Amino acid sequence: MRAVVLDADGQPRLADAPAPAEPMRVLACGLCGSDVEKIGVAPAGTVLGHEVVARRADGARVALIHHQPCGECARCLAGHESTCDRFAEATIVPGGFAEAVEAADGIELPDKLNDALGTYLEPLACVLRGAERVPRGRVLVVGQGFVGRLFAAVLRQRGDEVFATDARPERAGRAPDEPVGAAVLCAPAAPLDAVEPGGTVLVFSPAAPVDLDLVYRHELTLTGSRSATPLHMRAALALLPDLDLPEPDVLPLDRFAEGLERYRSGRALKLVFTP
Ligand SMILES: [Zn+2]
Ligand SMILES: [Zn+2]
Repeated sequence: MRAVVLDADGQPRLADAPAPAEPMRVLACGLCGSDVEKIGVAPAGTVLGHEVVARRADGARVALIHHQPCGECARCLAGHESTCDRFAEATIVPGGFAEAVEAADGIELPDKLNDALGTYLEPLACVLRGAERVPRGRVLVVGQGFVGRLFAAVLRQRGDEVFATDARPERAGRAPDEPVGAAVLCAPAAPLDAVEPGGTVLVFSPAAPVDLDLVYRHELTLTGSRSATPLHMRAALALLPDLDLPEPDVLPLDRFAEGLERYRSGRALKLVFTP
Protein backbone atom coordinates (compact mmCIF):
# COMPACT_ATOMS: atom_id res chain seq x y z
CA MET A 1 0.00 0.00 0.00
CA ARG A 2 1.00 3.64 -0.25
CA ALA A 3 1.85 5.61 2.87
CA VAL A 4 3.68 8.77 3.88
CA VAL A 5 6.81 7.32 5.49
CA LEU A 6 9.63 9.19 7.20
CA ASP A 7 12.90 8.64 5.33
CA ALA A 8 16.45 8.38 6.74
CA ASP A 9 16.46 12.16 7.38
CA GLY A 10 13.09 11.97 9.11
CA GLN A 11 11.39 13.68 6.15
CA PRO A 12 7.96 12.52 4.93
CA ARG A 13 7.87 10.79 1.51
CA LEU A 14 5.11 8.94 -0.27
CA ALA A 15 6.35 5.35 -0.43
CA ASP A 16 5.28 1.72 -0.54
CA ALA A 17 4.76 0.22 2.88
CA PRO A 18 3.66 -3.25 3.99
CA ALA A 19 -0.11 -3.45 4.48
CA PRO A 20 -1.23 -4.42 8.00
CA ALA A 21 -2.51 -7.94 8.65
CA GLU A 22 -6.12 -6.89 9.24
CA PRO A 23 -6.43 -3.72 7.17
CA MET A 24 -9.13 -1.09 7.51
CA ARG A 25 -9.34 1.42 4.69
CA VAL A 26 -8.34 4.95 5.80
CA LEU A 27 -10.86 7.58 4.69
CA ALA A 28 -9.22 10.67 6.19
CA CYS A 29 -6.44 11.64 8.59
CA GLY A 30 -5.84 15.03 10.19
CA LEU A 31 -2.39 16.58 10.55
CA CYS A 32 -1.71 17.49 14.18
CA GLY A 33 0.95 19.84 15.55
CA SER A 34 2.36 16.85 17.41
CA ASP A 35 2.87 15.05 14.07
CA VAL A 36 4.77 18.03 12.69
CA GLU A 37 7.03 18.05 15.77
CA LYS A 38 8.07 14.46 14.98
CA ILE A 39 9.22 15.29 11.44
CA GLY A 40 13.01 15.27 11.36
CA VAL A 41 13.07 13.60 14.78
CA ALA A 42 11.20 10.25 14.63
CA PRO A 43 13.06 7.21 13.25
CA ALA A 44 13.09 6.22 9.56
CA GLY A 45 10.07 4.13 8.60
CA THR A 46 7.67 5.98 10.93
CA VAL A 47 4.18 6.62 9.54
CA LEU A 48 2.60 9.57 11.34
CA GLY A 49 -1.08 10.37 11.77
CA HIS A 50 -3.43 9.62 14.69
CA GLU A 51 -6.56 11.62 13.84
CA VAL A 52 -8.00 8.88 11.68
CA VAL A 53 -11.39 8.05 10.19
CA ALA A 54 -11.47 4.58 8.63
CA ARG A 55 -13.94 2.02 7.31
CA ARG A 56 -14.24 -1.10 9.42
CA ALA A 57 -14.65 -4.57 7.86
CA ASP A 58 -18.37 -4.46 8.72
CA GLY A 59 -18.73 -1.27 6.66
CA ALA A 60 -19.06 1.17 9.57
CA ARG A 61 -17.13 4.45 9.47
CA VAL A 62 -15.19 4.92 12.69
CA ALA A 63 -12.95 7.52 14.32
CA LEU A 64 -10.03 5.45 15.60
CA ILE A 65 -8.83 5.45 19.20
CA HIS A 66 -5.07 5.91 19.04
CA HIS A 67 -4.09 5.05 22.58
CA GLN A 68 -5.93 3.02 25.14
CA PRO A 69 -5.40 3.41 28.91
CA CYS A 70 -5.86 0.27 31.05
CA GLY A 71 -8.53 1.99 33.16
CA GLU A 72 -7.47 0.11 36.30
CA CYS A 73 -4.03 1.30 37.45
CA ALA A 74 -3.50 4.02 40.05
CA ARG A 75 -2.72 6.65 37.39
CA CYS A 76 -5.82 5.83 35.36
CA LEU A 77 -7.98 5.96 38.47
CA ALA A 78 -6.45 9.32 39.40
CA GLY A 79 -7.44 10.76 36.00
CA HIS A 80 -3.93 10.73 34.54
CA GLU A 81 -4.74 8.09 31.92
CA SER A 82 -2.24 9.42 29.36
CA THR A 83 0.59 8.51 31.76
CA CYS A 84 -0.63 4.90 32.12
CA ASP A 85 2.00 2.35 31.03
CA ARG A 86 -0.45 0.77 28.58
CA PHE A 87 -1.19 4.18 27.00
CA ALA A 88 2.24 4.34 25.37
CA GLU A 89 1.43 1.43 23.04
CA ALA A 90 0.25 2.64 19.64
CA THR A 91 -3.14 1.20 18.73
CA ILE A 92 -3.17 2.47 15.12
CA VAL A 93 -0.58 0.63 12.98
CA PRO A 94 1.39 1.83 11.08
CA GLY A 95 -0.17 5.34 11.30
CA GLY A 96 -2.98 7.27 9.66
CA PHE A 97 -1.17 8.77 6.64
CA ALA A 98 -1.57 5.51 4.75
CA GLU A 99 -4.13 3.75 2.60
CA ALA A 100 -4.88 1.23 5.33
CA VAL A 101 -4.31 0.72 9.05
CA GLU A 102 -4.92 -1.87 11.69
CA ALA A 103 -6.59 -0.52 14.81
CA ALA A 104 -7.80 -1.82 18.15
CA ASP A 105 -10.95 0.24 18.49
CA GLY A 106 -12.98 3.07 17.06
CA ILE A 107 -16.12 5.12 17.55
CA GLU A 108 -18.85 4.84 14.94
CA LEU A 109 -19.69 8.07 13.15
CA PRO A 110 -23.18 9.12 12.11
CA ASP A 111 -23.78 9.58 8.35
CA LYS A 112 -24.28 13.34 8.74
CA LEU A 113 -20.68 13.83 9.91
CA ASN A 114 -18.30 13.77 6.93
CA ASP A 115 -14.92 12.01 6.93
CA ALA A 116 -12.86 15.21 7.26
CA LEU A 117 -14.83 16.56 10.23
CA GLY A 118 -14.77 13.07 11.77
CA THR A 119 -11.01 13.53 12.19
CA TYR A 120 -11.78 16.39 14.63
CA LEU A 121 -12.97 13.89 17.24
CA GLU A 122 -9.46 13.14 18.48
CA PRO A 123 -8.21 16.73 18.91
CA LEU A 124 -11.58 17.77 20.36
CA ALA A 125 -11.38 14.90 22.85
CA CYS A 126 -7.91 16.12 23.94
CA VAL A 127 -9.37 19.58 24.48
CA LEU A 128 -12.37 18.30 26.45
CA ARG A 129 -10.07 16.39 28.77
CA GLY A 130 -7.83 19.46 29.23
CA ALA A 131 -10.82 21.73 29.84
CA GLU A 132 -11.76 19.65 32.89
CA ARG A 133 -8.65 21.12 34.57
CA VAL A 134 -9.59 24.71 33.78
CA PRO A 135 -11.78 26.49 36.36
CA ARG A 136 -14.83 28.21 34.87
CA GLY A 137 -14.89 31.98 34.50
CA ARG A 138 -12.59 34.34 32.61
CA VAL A 139 -10.09 32.30 30.61
CA LEU A 140 -7.26 33.34 28.30
CA VAL A 141 -6.35 30.92 25.49
CA VAL A 142 -2.80 31.54 24.30
CA GLY A 143 -2.27 30.45 20.69
CA GLN A 144 -5.03 30.48 18.09
CA GLY A 145 -3.95 27.71 15.79
CA PHE A 146 -6.44 24.91 15.32
CA VAL A 147 -6.22 23.52 18.86
CA GLY A 148 -6.43 27.00 20.38
CA ARG A 149 -9.56 27.62 18.32
CA LEU A 150 -11.03 24.30 19.53
CA PHE A 151 -10.22 25.24 23.11
CA ALA A 152 -11.82 28.66 22.80
CA ALA A 153 -14.96 27.11 21.23
CA VAL A 154 -15.28 24.52 24.01
CA LEU A 155 -14.84 27.09 26.78
CA ARG A 156 -17.33 29.49 25.18
CA GLN A 157 -19.82 26.68 24.77
CA ARG A 158 -19.66 25.90 28.49
CA GLY A 159 -20.24 29.56 29.32
CA ASP A 160 -16.80 30.99 30.05
CA GLU A 161 -15.73 34.50 29.07
CA VAL A 162 -12.93 33.69 26.64
CA PHE A 163 -9.97 35.82 25.55
CA ALA A 164 -7.47 34.75 22.92
CA THR A 165 -4.01 35.84 21.88
CA ASP A 166 -1.60 34.67 19.20
CA ALA A 167 1.87 35.64 18.04
CA ARG A 168 0.33 36.24 14.59
CA PRO A 169 -1.80 39.40 14.93
CA GLU A 170 -4.23 38.23 12.23
CA ARG A 171 -5.13 35.19 14.32
CA ALA A 172 -5.43 36.85 17.73
CA GLY A 173 -8.82 37.44 19.30
CA ARG A 174 -9.73 39.76 22.16
CA ALA A 175 -6.90 40.21 24.68
CA PRO A 176 -7.95 40.45 28.35
CA ASP A 177 -8.27 43.98 29.76
CA GLU A 178 -7.46 42.76 33.29
CA PRO A 179 -6.06 39.55 34.81
CA VAL A 180 -7.98 36.36 34.13
CA GLY A 181 -8.77 33.43 36.41
CA ALA A 182 -7.08 30.89 34.15
CA ALA A 183 -4.90 30.61 31.08
CA VAL A 184 -4.53 27.74 28.63
CA LEU A 185 -1.17 27.53 26.85
CA CYS A 186 -1.69 26.14 23.34
CA ALA A 187 1.53 27.80 22.15
CA PRO A 188 4.95 28.19 23.73
CA ALA A 189 4.42 31.32 25.79
CA ALA A 190 4.41 32.08 29.48
CA PRO A 191 2.03 34.96 30.19
CA LEU A 192 1.75 34.22 33.90
CA ASP A 193 1.30 37.91 34.68
CA ALA A 194 -2.02 37.76 32.79
CA VAL A 195 -3.35 35.38 35.46
CA GLU A 196 -4.68 36.75 38.73
CA PRO A 197 -3.24 35.54 42.05
CA GLY A 198 -4.59 32.11 42.94
CA GLY A 199 -5.33 31.39 39.26
CA THR A 200 -4.66 28.32 37.14
CA VAL A 201 -2.44 27.77 34.12
CA LEU A 202 -3.03 24.71 31.95
CA VAL A 203 0.00 23.69 29.88
CA PHE A 204 -1.45 22.10 26.76
CA SER A 205 1.50 22.16 24.37
CA PRO A 206 5.28 22.05 24.59
CA ALA A 207 5.78 25.17 26.64
CA ALA A 208 8.23 28.00 27.13
CA PRO A 209 10.00 28.26 30.49
CA VAL A 210 7.72 29.75 33.13
CA ASP A 211 8.53 32.15 35.93
CA LEU A 212 8.37 29.86 38.95
CA ASP A 213 8.92 32.82 41.23
CA LEU A 214 5.55 34.16 40.05
CA VAL A 215 3.95 30.74 40.62
CA TYR A 216 5.22 31.02 44.19
CA ARG A 217 4.34 34.64 44.86
CA HIS A 218 0.92 34.51 43.22
CA GLU A 219 0.12 30.99 44.42
CA LEU A 220 -0.72 29.89 40.90
CA THR A 221 -1.74 26.33 40.08
CA LEU A 222 0.27 24.99 37.17
CA THR A 223 -1.21 21.87 35.58
CA GLY A 224 -0.78 19.83 32.41
CA SER A 225 -2.97 17.76 30.14
CA ARG A 226 -1.98 15.68 27.14
CA SER A 227 -3.94 13.45 24.81
CA ALA A 228 -7.42 11.98 25.13
CA THR A 229 -9.26 8.90 26.40
CA PRO A 230 -11.97 6.83 24.68
CA LEU A 231 -14.49 8.40 27.06
CA HIS A 232 -13.54 11.88 25.85
CA MET A 233 -13.75 10.70 22.22
CA ARG A 234 -17.40 9.80 22.85
CA ALA A 235 -18.03 13.15 24.52
CA ALA A 236 -16.41 14.87 21.52
CA LEU A 237 -18.76 13.13 19.11
CA ALA A 238 -21.75 14.38 21.10
CA LEU A 239 -20.45 17.97 21.28
CA LEU A 240 -19.01 18.40 17.77
CA PRO A 241 -22.26 19.48 16.04
CA ASP A 242 -22.75 22.28 18.62
CA LEU A 243 -19.40 23.97 18.01
CA ASP A 244 -18.48 26.62 15.49
CA LEU A 245 -15.15 25.32 14.15
CA PRO A 246 -12.86 26.22 11.26
CA GLU A 247 -13.23 24.07 8.14
CA PRO A 248 -10.24 21.91 7.20
CA ASP A 249 -8.19 22.13 4.01
CA VAL A 250 -8.59 18.66 2.49
CA LEU A 251 -5.88 17.30 0.19
CA PRO A 252 -5.08 13.87 -1.27
CA LEU A 253 -2.25 12.02 0.43
CA ASP A 254 0.07 12.47 -2.56
CA ARG A 255 0.01 16.23 -1.85
CA PHE A 256 1.26 15.77 1.73
CA ALA A 257 4.31 17.98 1.24
CA GLU A 258 2.16 20.83 -0.08
CA GLY A 259 -0.25 20.43 2.87
CA LEU A 260 2.61 20.44 5.34
CA GLU A 261 3.90 23.68 3.81
CA ARG A 262 0.43 25.26 4.04
CA TYR A 263 0.27 24.31 7.71
CA ARG A 264 3.78 25.48 8.55
CA SER A 265 3.37 28.81 6.78
CA GLY A 266 0.13 29.43 8.66
CA ARG A 267 -1.92 29.65 5.45
CA ALA A 268 -4.06 26.74 6.67
CA LEU A 269 -5.27 26.16 10.22
CA LYS A 270 -6.03 22.49 9.73
CA LEU A 271 -5.02 19.96 7.10
CA VAL A 272 -6.83 16.70 6.48
CA PHE A 273 -5.44 14.16 4.01
CA THR A 274 -7.42 11.54 2.13
CA PRO A 275 -5.65 8.54 0.57
ZN1 LIG B 1 -3.57 15.17 17.64
ZN1 LIG C 1 -3.77 2.48 33.52
